[in-house]
Amino acid sequence: AMAKHQRFREAHELTAKLYNYILMNTDAGVQALNYLENRGISRKTMVDFRLGFAPKTNNTVVSFLRKRGFQDEELVACGLAVEMGTGLVDRFRGRVMVPICDKKGQVIAFGGRTMDAKVKPKYLNSPEYDLFHKSRLLYNYHDARKLIRQGRVALLLEGYMDVISLAQAGVLHGVATLGTSLTEEQAALLKTDCDKTIVAYDGDAAGRKATVRAIDILLGAGIEPLILQIPDGQDPDEYVQANGGEAFGRLMQRRTLSVVQFLLDDMRQQANLTSSVGRTAFVRDALQLLAKRATPVEQEYEMRNLSQEFNLSVETLKEELRGFAKLNK
Ligand code: ATP
Ligand code: MN
Ligand code: MN
Ligand code: MN
Repeated sequence: AMAKHQRFREAHELTAKLYNYILMNTDAGVQALNYLENRGISRKTMVDFRLGFAPKTNNTVVSFLRKRGFQDEELVACGLAVEMGTGLVDRFRGRVMVPICDKKGQVIAFGGRTMDAKVKPKYLNSPEYDLFHKSRLLYNYHDARKLIRQGRVALLLEGYMDVISLAQAGVLHGVATLGTSLTEEQAALLKTDCDKTIVAYDGDAAGRKATVRAIDILLGAGIEPLILQIPDGQDPDEYVQANGGEAFGRLMQRRTLSVVQFLLDDMRQQANLTSSVGRTAFVRDALQLLAKRATPVEQEYEMRNLSQEFNLSVETLKEELRGFAKLNK
């Protein structure tokens, strides 16, 4: 099995080199090069992250790896080729390629992005196989790990491009899940290196929902989550490309929320504060949340805010919170 795995790794390393060469040095790669440059990605970043381009042709990788002694079954087994009626075809065609590395920094899979908004899916990933289990792996973990250990804090992102653009702007401790929600295994991995994790998912509804889930997974692994909401519905890539790395650093300094603050804010966004029934329900839910999750200091602080906003006495709020606290016991 080890020899087999070594060959899968070798096939991916060779393919990553080929894709990168095609992107940076050939006519076939010009469109992809322009695409990445238009997205603000520098040549140095393309080299650092080993970005590439898989040409539209049917069997660039298949014939390249056959010439280097790989068997067809091997190429299918590690997801680089797929069996068609007529024979083997490259899995990735006409896509910008992002190599995905294992814990040791070896390429074991790819994510491929289409440049054509009409083509679905937007990202095509390698299939799961012996070496690639996307629930156990975090994108860029190998490179970010040292820094995460130093600061005892990780930055959790949604996508490849968020990691890449932030790194280019000097924010180097970003890692990303691979198109799924955060798993317990990934959180356990993070726990070996950090005590806190900043969750900076996309600032859209899907991102907020995924944040709520990630919070519980992180807490379950004994990691303190901090939540960074990107303004204006942007994702971290868009934000940092528009505003730069220092601005993102300031966001991390000033705008990260505690779990309680984020969940209160999330509740508020879903509440109907224009009706008195909605306001009462929001206050009740907020107190319930505080009873369950907040420290005494947080409880006091947030109750003062609620008292002012809804014109209720702190005493009344405290009394209701005590009721919820009893229920939790
Ligand atoms: P881009 O900026 O290139 O549009 P993104 O990273 O902002 O990409 P999102 O749509 O926010 O893309 O998705 C976040 C991540 O989820 C992607 O980086 C990718 O890992 C994964 N993903 C998105 N769409 C798909 C898909 N159709 N299939 C598999 N994974 C996907
Ligand atoms: Mn998204
Ligand atoms: Mn995104
Ligand atoms: Mn994006």
